[in-house]
Amino acid sequence: MKSKNITNIAIIGGGASGIFSSLRCAEIANTKGINADIRVFEASNDILRKVKISGGGRCNVTHFIKEEKNLCLNYPRGQKEMLSPFVSFKTTDTVKWFKDRGVNLKHEADGRMFPVTDNSNTIINCFIKEAKKYKVKILTKSNIKNITKLNNGKLSLLINTKENFIADSVLIATGSKKSGYKIAESLGHTITELAPSLFSFNIKDIIIKDLQGTSFSNSHLNLKIEGFKNFYQQGPLLITHWGLSGPALLKLSSWAAREMKNSEYKAKIFINWLGLESKEKTKELIDNIKKNNTRSNISKIHPKELTKRFWIQLLTKCNISMQKNWSDLTKIELEKIIINLFNCELSVNGKSRYKEEFVECGGVNLKEINFKTMESKICTGLFFSGEIIDVDGITGGFNFQNAWTTGWIAGKNMIR
Ligand SMILES: Cc1cc2nc3c(=O)[nH]c(=O)nc-3n(C[C@H](O)[C@H](O)[C@H](O)COP(=O)(O)OP(=O)(O)OC[C@H]3O[C@@H](n4cnc5c(N)ncnc54)[C@H](O)[C@@H]3O)c2cc1C
Repeated sequence: MKSKNITNIAIIGGGASGIFSSLRCAEIANTKGINADIRVFEASNDILRKVKISGGGRCNVTHFIKEEKNLCLNYPRGQKEMLSPFVSFKTTDTVKWFKDRGVNLKHEADGRMFPVTDNSNTIINCFIKEAKKYKVKILTKSNIKNITKLNNGKLSLLINTKENFIADSVLIATGSKKSGYKIAESLGHTITELAPSLFSFNIKDIIIKDLQGTSFSNSHLNLKIEGFKNFYQQGPLLITHWGLSGPALLKLSSWAAREMKNSEYKAKIFINWLGLESKEKTKELIDNIKKNNTRSNISKIHPKELTKRFWIQLLTKCNISMQKNWSDLTKIELEKIIINLFNCELSVNGKSRYKEEFVECGGVNLKEINFKTMESKICTGLFFSGEIIDVDGITGGFNFQNAWTTGWIAGKNMIR
């Protein structure tokens, strides 16, 4: 299938990373005048399916953080290894890449970046246009079943059980699909423990019952999983039908992904709903309310940052009668209120993933990849990029940034 002067490049996976990589590869081949046959093999009917649904259809392309070291802090797995790749291609390069191709990105208050159109099709159309310009061959319904290393050093891909493609370089960018891990293993790689990341916690407790939609702008969360270290996060928190979600909780789930899996999603979470800096400050707040409202009913007067419904459920959790006035509260009752505001203990029992961004933690062992080129240290000519690697980020555009960065580097180095 290969004629003499053509370099054959195979990219397995038409997702974010595979497509981005193919474009970089084609651009380099074009600039250097290299005659390359670049093919993207996609198992399903369509490419870029996750990009389409990402960010609720808006595609959170990247994050506003510019500095590489700060960027790395958002990757529970791959923090150290991603520093050098980000020096080559980081968030600002992503913004520029799109801008140079007529796609402007904007950022929101929390740093997430989206196309100004608020439509993921803008990103997809941009990629398709580039792929046409550089004549990248995108082959859908092309499931790569296995790869064999040939005696001459080339790699043979089996497509849909019948056809073969002999490649000089192969990129595996199959995301969290099992088939990709299997192919990597068959070529000598190890796959680190897999676990879901970015999920909500299932919690049943009177304090949050039927309060879905209630949010807290600056909660402090402490997660205690028996037998493991504790995890801490702060930020926005959301009550859902099943328990808790929101940016701070999703971050917590990401950092504790493996430990939560090993504990079968059973843990204790301690919540400081208002994010006050100390128990004393929380006591001060409650003492002030009491002092200024002695004759008021406790159900009617509450910290202004809380909704009335949440406050009533907090009082119910404390077993305090709604008939009481503030002056009737005993010391013990006041202490209960303070504890449930500052360090409210809830039992986590299970996880949920619903329409949110989610990724797989774990993948190809980081020690087996050269992060300067994204080439395998075990099999020459084999490259990895995106979610198949044991790198994953918290929500906010960091997972796509991993896909773009590693794809860009692999794309550059697959052409020799
Ligand atoms: C609902 C949802 C929303 C998300 N939103 C965001 C967001 O807004 N921002 C963000 O940063 N991240 C987001 N993510 C995460 C992000 O989508 C992924 O991290 C990213 O898509 C990973 O890119 P990838 O190319 O490595 O893998 P994928 O995008 O998963 O692509 C892998 C491709 O490989 C194909 N494939 C697999 N095996 C084979 C095979 N054997 N042969 C041929 N093809 C194969 C698959 O069909 C797939 O098309 C979201 C994830 C989900 C699920």
